[in-house]
Amino acid sequence: MKVNMMHGAGGEVMGELLTTLTKFKNNNAGGIGLEALDDGAVIPLGGENLVFTTDSHVVRPLFFPGGDIGRISVCGTINDLAVMGGRPVALSCGMIIEEGFDVDDLARIVASMDDALGEAGASLVTGDTKVLERGALDGIAINTAGIGIAKTVVRDNGLVPGDVIIVSGTLGDHGIAIMAHREGFDLGEQIRSDVAPVWKMIEPALEAGTIHAMKDPTRGGFAASINEMAKKSGVCVRIAEEEIPIRKNVKSAAGMLGIDPLEVANEGKVVMGVPAQDALAVLAALKAHPYGRNAAVIGRVTAGSHVIMETAVGGERFIEPPMGDPVPRVC
Ligand code: MG
Repeated sequence: MKVNMMHGAGGEVMGELLTTLTKFKNNNAGGIGLEALDDGAVIPLGGENLVFTTDSHVVRPLFFPGGDIGRISVCGTINDLAVMGGRPVALSCGMIIEEGFDVDDLARIVASMDDALGEAGASLVTGDTKVLERGALDGIAINTAGIGIAKTVVRDNGLVPGDVIIVSGTLGDHGIAIMAHREGFDLGEQIRSDVAPVWKMIEPALEAGTIHAMKDPTRGGFAASINEMAKKSGVCVRIAEEEIPIRKNVKSAAGMLGIDPLEVANEGKVVMGVPAQDALAVLAALKAHPYGRNAAVIGRVTAGSHVIMETAVGGERFIEPPMGDPVPRVC
């Protein structure tokens, strides 16, 4: 078998490749390894929890409505720390650059990384730069790794029956913005990526109530994330279609492209499961932050399995885990 684009698309097909990529026999020194396959790893250190994660970025185009590869490379890592309950502290950055790349563009990318780091209160503390011959790479690839400190670690497998499902805002913005931009769609008002560091939104939500499970719905979108959360937690999730926040222009563009907005990447959103009695307080905390102003309760957790959509017309259907994100090189 050879690697194909779907192997990088964050869905069921990528999961098959991960069986090869996670096959380590000697990888459990100190009792920690890759078992959880969560947004980040947790390394207990004394009384604290160090959260550690990494993410590579190959988004095309490098500059898109609402962001660029610099912002996404910082936010991708910060958000994976944040959804584990980790306050982002320090990031590394490895850049692989193609010969001929414009240094002014590099400066723009770095300025954008700087803005996102400033917003999240994190620092870039170490890095590496490599240059490849012209044609060996499509412009630039950026890897970041990050460490955070979590008072309370939040996993993606902690949903329990009785929880409500909250999303922190509109779904599908990033993936549809990238695709609409590539296709040259003119929809009047431009669709913009939601790429943003979410820690400052999550921090007060963690103070406001208990959060049983949390995930950032990146590649494969909400559909991939909620299925992973339901499956790992051993529960059924029921989603009310009418409650899902999706922008009108995202819905129109998704329709034209034949893409389900629930299957494309978000880069500034969070999905969480919260005990019903804490839902209003957590929702209010999210809504108090500009990135969370469209936060909504969209479903509930019951005993059983699968993710079920209660449709606007009164029917029911499964929300299946996507084979992969329909937008290639989305992040
Ligand atoms: Mg993640």
